[in-house]
Amino acid sequence: MRTPAEVTIVEVGPRDGLQNERQPVPLAAKRALIEALDAAGVPRMEVGAFVSPKWVPQMADTAALVGELPRLRARASVLVPNAKGLEAALASAVPEIVVFAAATETFSKKNINCSVTEATARLTEVIGEAKRHGRTVRVDISCATHCPYEGPVAPGTVAQLSESLMAAGSNELALCDTIGKATPNNVRDVIEATAVGVPRAELAWHGHDTYGQALVNALAALECDVTVIDSAVAGLGGCPFAPGAAGNLATEDLVYLLDGLGVRTGIDLGALAAAGAQITELLGREPAGRVARALGRH
Ligand code: MG
Repeated sequence: MRTPAEVTIVEVGPRDGLQNERQPVPLAAKRALIEALDAAGVPRMEVGAFVSPKWVPQMADTAALVGELPRLRARASVLVPNAKGLEAALASAVPEIVVFAAATETFSKKNINCSVTEATARLTEVIGEAKRHGRTVRVDISCATHCPYEGPVAPGTVAQLSESLMAAGSNELALCDTIGKATPNNVRDVIEATAVGVPRAELAWHGHDTYGQALVNALAALECDVTVIDSAVAGLGGCPFAPGAAGNLATEDLVYLLDGLGVRTGIDLGALAAAGAQITELLGREPAGRVARALGRH
């Protein structure tokens, strides 16, 4: 099997993972999770979001959280939906800003209340402003293979949107299977279409495990030479705006796979699983990933 020597895992548990939790997670527990993941060797981490607390109450303490984080080895990022969110993020020291767009009109209207064209115009300004302030920028494309409202999404549509958002100055673009419906050929098709206009080194893959495909889809992305993969410790997550979406690909499962393939991640699986066990114990449930459960029995 053709595999890269190294893969960069972007740990999204503290943001994408926790944002969907109904019970409020105390700031101290979020901080402990981030520090444990950092100590486990995670190279990049989404730590929070500057979004309206009305829409995503779990992220209401992001400013306080990032204000009290120690210096991390991981490169931290925060999600922002608009110029107001960016302003808050720029007041923090977080080096990377994540913005998001949807590949379909219906998801865009329901999630961010504007058309794809309007969203692109707004994001172009946000990306430019973040870059002027010296921040690294990533764009997440939701529904890159399937939309909960419109069904399968044409790879050409995603490619076109990706190219225009990268032209706005973003450093990276993540193709996101928001509802976890993709199978490996969908992953390959959207990556190949997008890679015509965006260098593969600037692409990332983000998958959910709703249909049990998250790990094989990550492998499909690697086989297309995309070596930045998102995952969440303990398979945390879902999406409050995507009905039926299950958790993210579990980081423990991804690290176990990559360890077995001899691919470097820089992450210590035991320390990672311990971080996952700590947060899932607090949430009162088992980790979603298979590897974390297997390790728990031995
Ligand atoms: Mg996600």
